Amino acid sequence: MSGGDNLDFEIRPNPAPVSDADRATLLANPGFGRIFTDHMVTVRYAEGKGWYEPRVEARAPIPMDPASAVLHYAQEIFEGLKAYTTSDGGVTLFRPDANAARFAQSAQRMAMPQLPQAMFLESLRQIISIDQKWIPQSDEGSLYLRPFAYASEVFLGVRPAMEYLYLVIASPVGAYFSGGVKPVTVWATPDYTRAAPGGTGAAKCGGNYAAGLSAQAEAIEHGCDQVVYLDAVERKYVDELGGMNVIFVMDDGSLVTPPLGGTILPGITRDSVLKLAAHAGRAVHERPVSIDEWREGAASGRIREVFACGTAAVITPIATVKSPEGEFTVADGGPGEVTMALRQQLSDIQRGRAEDPFGWVHKV
Ligand code: PMP
Repeated sequence: MSGGDNLDFEIRPNPAPVSDADRATLLANPGFGRIFTDHMVTVRYAEGKGWYEPRVEARAPIPMDPASAVLHYAQEIFEGLKAYTTSDGGVTLFRPDANAARFAQSAQRMAMPQLPQAMFLESLRQIISIDQKWIPQSDEGSLYLRPFAYASEVFLGVRPAMEYLYLVIASPVGAYFSGGVKPVTVWATPDYTRAAPGGTGAAKCGGNYAAGLSAQAEAIEHGCDQVVYLDAVERKYVDELGGMNVIFVMDDGSLVTPPLGGTILPGITRDSVLKLAAHAGRAVHERPVSIDEWREGAASGRIREVFACGTAAVITPIATVKSPEGEFTVADGGPGEVTMALRQQLSDIQRGRAEDPFGWVHKV
């Protein structure tokens, strides 16, 4: 069948899954992205044939020819989302349709075929259903799902590949902050930019992250947790962090965040926070924010709180910004009231503990 219509996954259970006792030991302290479940999803694509052979199989190394296109020209995209257990024993996903849509947008930018949304959602359902025992039962734990696709064609010509492999792997993760939410310090790098207009900033492609590793190393050398990127043209406006969007809480209670203009990733957490805040009657503005406005707002009190948001950590307060020109801290550097309330509300919706006004929670 072609065009990704075949949602009939062949299931080949892992003949040697991790034992119940070993899984319990692993789940006691999962960390992030370190341990993986027993299975993976694979779906193949070939030009003219479409998506075919959807399969659930034992997680294993993928044989790869050294001339596979992805190894040379980096045609690769991915997504990240979490499955949660609810108090009634069910499993939920948060806005998986938004991840499916972003995956399709990333594919388009990287000249890759788009996986149909129904196949993306069914692939998540399949891995959750076979590896449900791997979802941590703790209040803060979840099963992190990593759908991704890459150019598997064996060919060294520079053009969009004609064969791809789509996979989903799953990794149980624990509380992002053990011992309470900790505000981070960010490094406003003078040396690196993340994305230029017309570039790949809005796509979730591996290359963006490879290009950010030197900047992240620089941040750590300067005693910071994360990089904050400024725009590539004027080196003046805040874009985002290496893996999270940035939102400012102003002294009038409004939220301000840089607009989606193609150079930042359209975060699903960002979008959810903005929608929830507006729904609660809070003013929300998407407009450019310069690093000077951040510094001056910290000094005058016009900016009261700043936080980063993304799937992994939900919401992380940003206390201090460091750069070669010095450093500044917003308010007293502690987690702000609005930040923590939004964090609580979003986590409660995601885990089925609060009203879901937009119907975002998707039962699996
Ligand atoms: N920006 C970047 C660069 C990211 O990698 C992520 C994580 N996907 C985000 C922002 C936040 O996106 P989301 O809220 O969809 O996780």
